[in-house]
Amino acid sequence: MKPTNTVFTGLETTVFERMSRLASEHKAINLGQGFPDVDGPQDVRQVAADALMQDPNQYPPMLGVPALRQAVADNNKRFYDLDIDWQSEVLVTSGATEALADSIFALVEPGDEVILIEPLYDCYLSLVKRAGATPVFVQVTPPNWELHEDQLRKAFSSKTKAILINNPMNPNAKVFHKDELQLIADLCLEYDCYAICDEVYEHIVFSEAKHKPLMTLPGMRDRCVRIGSAGKTFSLTGWKIGYITAPHNLLEPIAKAHQFVTFTTPPNLQKAVAYGLNKDDDYYVSFEKELEAKRDLISGPLADMGFSVLQCEGTYFVTCDFSPLGFNGTDVEFCQKMVEEAGVAAVPISAFYGTHEGPKTLVRFCFCKKDEVLHEALSRLRTWMGAMAVS
Ligand code: PMP
Ligand code: GLN
Repeated sequence: MKPTNTVFTGLETTVFERMSRLASEHKAINLGQGFPDVDGPQDVRQVAADALMQDPNQYPPMLGVPALRQAVADNNKRFYDLDIDWQSEVLVTSGATEALADSIFALVEPGDEVILIEPLYDCYLSLVKRAGATPVFVQVTPPNWELHEDQLRKAFSSKTKAILINNPMNPNAKVFHKDELQLIADLCLEYDCYAICDEVYEHIVFSEAKHKPLMTLPGMRDRCVRIGSAGKTFSLTGWKIGYITAPHNLLEPIAKAHQFVTFTTPPNLQKAVAYGLNKDDDYYVSFEKELEAKRDLISGPLADMGFSVLQCEGTYFVTCDFSPLGFNGTDVEFCQKMVEEAGVAAVPISAFYGTHEGPKTLVRFCFCKKDEVLHEALSRLRTWMGAMAVS
C-alpha cells in the first residue's frame, strides 16, 4: 500500500498523553500534563449549562458568536490598550491548537522558513512541516533562558515568512522582556515577516514579571497574530475555546483555513467564555495570586530536596534541574523512575526540542493542583529521595 503522510506517520503520541497514561498506570500524582485539578469558575460553567438548555445548539457564525468576539476585543483594550475591531479582527477557534494550525496554514507555504524557539510547544513543529515550510530553530538557554541576539539574527533570512513566539513560554516559564520583544519586532520589520504569538498563558504571569503582547510594539499591530485560550484563562482545558486577534488582511485567510478545519465551535461554550472574559479585574488578579502561591508552595520544598529550581515568571509549570541530585541518566529516564518509584509524574524537557540537541537534565512539574495534592507529591518525593540515599 502507498505510504501515509510522512509528517504524522510514525510520530509519537504526545508526551503529555504518554505521561498521563503512565501516571494512571502507576497510580501516580500527575504533575505532568498541564491541566488544573479543579474546574474553573462556577458562574462561567452555569452560563454554559443555561445556554446549552435554553439557546439553539446549531452552527453559530463561522467567525464566532458576536458576544465572544466583542469580549475578546474588549479584553485586548482593557489589558493591553489595543484597539481591535471585533467584527473583522477576531476569530473564535476550537482551542489555541486549532488557532495555531489555522494561522500556520494560512500564512505559510512550501519554500517559506518559519523560526521556532526551543524549547517549543509540541504541535508547532508538525504543523509547520505539514504546511510544507522549513523550520529554523533558535534556542533560549537555561538556566535563565536568554534569547541570544546573534543567534536570532542569524535565523532570519529573505525566506523567513514568520516567527512563532510562545509568551509566556511553556515549558520553561519564561516571560519575554521588553528588550527581547523589541529585538524580535525589529527583525520582523527588517525582514518583512509575520509573528504568530501563542499567548495562551497571558493571564498567568507573576508579580515580578509583566506580559506585553508583541502586537503592542510599534509597527507590530499589522504583523502579529495573537492567540489566547479560555482553557488556560478559566481553568477549563476540556472546553477547547481559543481566539485569534489579527489585522483584517491576516484574519481573512486564517478564517478561510478555519472554515475547513472545524468551521465553528460549540455556541454555549462560546457564550460562557464571553461572560468569563468580561469578569472584573478581581478575577484575573486572584487567579494569578492563587497560582503564584502554588508556585511558591512547590518551589521551596523542591529546592530543599536538592533540585535546582529555575525561575518561573509565568504559566503553571516549574522547571527543575535534577543533576545536583546525582542521578546519572536522562530526563526521560528520571521521569520514568520517578513515576514508577515515587508515584509522581512530571514531563522531560527534552520532549520540547525539535532537531537540535537540548538540555537532558531538566523536568517540568505542573503546579495548578489542589494544595493537598501538591503537599502529597512533595512528601512522596521526599520519601523516594530518602530511600535512594540509603540504597
Ligand atoms: N500553546 C501552548 C503553549 C500550550 O501550552 C497549550 C496547552 N494546551 C496550547 C497552545 C493549546 O491550547 P488549547 O488547549 O486551547 O488548544
Ligand atoms: N498544554 C498542555 C501541557 O503543556 C498539554 C496539552 C495537551 O495535552 N495537548 O502540558
